[in-house]
Amino acid sequence: MTGACDVLVTHGLVVTMADDLAVIADGAVAIRGGEVVAVGPTAEVAAAWRGAKIVDAMGGVVHPGFIDGHTHLGLHLIRGLLPEDPLTPAPGGAGRPGPFTRWLNALTEEDEAAATGLAALEMMLAGFTGVVEAGTALYPDAVAETMAGAGLRVSVAEPMLWDHPGIEVMATQIDAAPCDAARARAGLGRQLHRNRDGGLARGHVAVYGDGSASMELLVEASALAAREGVPFHMHQSFTHADSEADAARFGAPALLAMAERGVLGPQAVFTHMNVLSDAEADAVAESRMAIVWHPGNATFYGIQPRAKLHVPALVRRGTEIALSADVAKAWSFGDLGRFAYIAAREWGSWLPASAILRMHTRGGARALGMAGALGALEVGRRADVVVRRADDPAMVPDFDPMLHLALIQGNRGVRTVICDGRVVVDEGEPLTVDRAAVLARARASARAMAERTDLLPGRPA
Ligand SMILES: [Zn+2]
Repeated sequence: MTGACDVLVTHGLVVTMADDLAVIADGAVAIRGGEVVAVGPTAEVAAAWRGAKIVDAMGGVVHPGFIDGHTHLGLHLIRGLLPEDPLTPAPGGAGRPGPFTRWLNALTEEDEAAATGLAALEMMLAGFTGVVEAGTALYPDAVAETMAGAGLRVSVAEPMLWDHPGIEVMATQIDAAPCDAARARAGLGRQLHRNRDGGLARGHVAVYGDGSASMELLVEASALAAREGVPFHMHQSFTHADSEADAARFGAPALLAMAERGVLGPQAVFTHMNVLSDAEADAVAESRMAIVWHPGNATFYGIQPRAKLHVPALVRRGTEIALSADVAKAWSFGDLGRFAYIAAREWGSWLPASAILRMHTRGGARALGMAGALGALEVGRRADVVVRRADDPAMVPDFDPMLHLALIQGNRGVRTVICDGRVVVDEGEPLTVDRAAVLARARASARAMAERTDLLPGRPA
């Protein structure tokens, strides 16, 4: 193909994330109708394509947009109000519901939109073009409209579907999300209508998980996702406590019991999966399911040093892994690659930079339900393209651009972000949202929420 295109990115160090992990020195990407129509040496691509807009990368790294596999967008403004030491009770006194419960019970539609707006701005400035909402958005319409309005991708589900109180205390505490089998079953497919529009906002199947779903609900949710060709998300095997509780109620380790009932499979994308036996890790690999891994949370809560890390071996066995910001505690979008690398080293294993970049890109695309359509710079995929600054010292020298991008530069140095063919960030500034207005709205919401939830630091009980 040749001819006119919408955007032509030239003279980039193009990290394609294609199967062969090709990196093209002095490479170019042509975009037309939101799709990548050419990738290759600038001399060839620029000779064949005339761009309405030309982005000269001037030697900077060009890579697929990063995608976050699991973030609670409505909880994005709680950061800084959680105890820095997770073992201490939340401000406002022990014996009261936890901070997440208090936050979710105080959250209005305006607050959730304000938090989502801030997350969108933060994501685009960090080179992210999509996020999977983690199944607690109380106002999925507001989340979808805010994220898509900013020009970024999001997938949403109904909030907190659960039917088994178990050890997940929140399952009986959220006013808007009662623990109820009929409500849970009715909600499973309610956001899937979005996938028919072909827009930036999508829907997936989710239950909250972490022991709060009956086996019957898990079977139904997973079967629905498989039928509809969408991911089935939930929290699973986060801590030793919920893994042990699951094993007790199922009479077998959770993932083995789920494999037996057909819950695992390519549609399953479970978040955390920190506490797994060797046999469960085998079941994961054999099922071709995917994992959203949060090495930050596993470290924050002290789980990681006590639970054998299976991820590096699963990567080598072909399991697709995505990364997640979840609820920001001591990290932001794009920081988790470094946690991943260090977690692997702690267990005497290692993850190559290419594997970490794959988690950010193709793993995220799988979590979003767009495995074949996103995550790599290849002809025919949707055009989510990030151009990093050529003059960022963190990218010098460029002997190993993947290592620099994954572990040294991280989320810095983002110059231009293109999502679905549309330029959403240029020269480091957002084009689709008013930066000052997003920040002011988020600050106002956060202050009001801190008051309403009684979570201000140092506040007496
Ligand atoms: Zn979560």
